[in-house]
Amino acid sequence: MHYDLFSQHTVGAEAEFGGTGLHSGARVNVRLRPAPPHHGIVFYRVDLPGNPAIAARHDNVVDTSLATVLGSDGVRVGTVEHFMAAVRVLGIDNLRVEIDGPEMPVMDGSAVPYLEVLARAGLERQEASKTCLRVESPFTVRQGDAYVRVRPADVLHIDYTIDFPHPLVGRQHFAWRLDAGAFRRELAAARTFGFLREVEYLQSKGLALGGSLDNAVVFDDHGVLNAEGLRFPDECVRHKVLDFLGDLALCPFPVFAHFEAHKAGHALHNQVLREMFRRPGHARFIQAATAIPQKVIHQPVPSIYWKPPVLARTG
Ligand SMILES: [Zn+2]
Repeated sequence: MHYDLFSQHTVGAEAEFGGTGLHSGARVNVRLRPAPPHHGIVFYRVDLPGNPAIAARHDNVVDTSLATVLGSDGVRVGTVEHFMAAVRVLGIDNLRVEIDGPEMPVMDGSAVPYLEVLARAGLERQEASKTCLRVESPFTVRQGDAYVRVRPADVLHIDYTIDFPHPLVGRQHFAWRLDAGAFRRELAAARTFGFLREVEYLQSKGLALGGSLDNAVVFDDHGVLNAEGLRFPDECVRHKVLDFLGDLALCPFPVFAHFEAHKAGHALHNQVLREMFRRPGHARFIQAATAIPQKVIHQPVPSIYWKPPVLARTG
């Protein structure tokens, strides 16, 4: 698969896949279809009358407690983050995601199956230039002892630290720089993880109903329950970087910045984007073709809460 960084892209052909929703336990089918320039990534609930659309945008995030859930006019699509990470890393800007249920299929809990289906669909370059956002001034979002520090950088850097009191997890740190090859090698295979006690509690509340050792790493008090063990010794922190990338992919444009995340999660990831758009001066548009600092096109953020000019058509 080949793409240039300067143009918008969609998929070259339709592709289908299906699986189980992690939390709903429901069987869902997804069809990916090409979309025109400036359409954005948009989910369509084809199981509902009128096929309501939900744009994959940070300001459509309605729940972050267990996964990232998008919603619009009461219609939801959950657990979009691993899929979105694969879409953004491959440079896809425009895509119709037709889904017949309320939650993306979790597949094996990683991003590899999505990469495979997107590879089958291929990429198509479009006659429209790609816009990116560059962070211009540092800021921090916090929640208790968790935080994400954001500062200007010429490429996307993610520095992530987690700390879980478990003998196989503990404190883990992973530093990553945007690169599609590195995504495949280092992040894509890292699976969702959970702790047995939490899983039992969630299932007693009717959640994580689709969760199993086929789609999540589960730790008991002493070790890992999955017979095959871990895919990386630090699989957990790698998965958190994958989650962060997916949540960041809900920014309508690729972001250039250095993110230092400490014990963060979906809620804080989403706050980063909301904060970025809340204050003029935190970020500005650049054309990807000129995404070199000296050549940045100076385009001020036009309003306090900036509505991107390149908007998904919903409906
Ligand atoms: Zn995840």
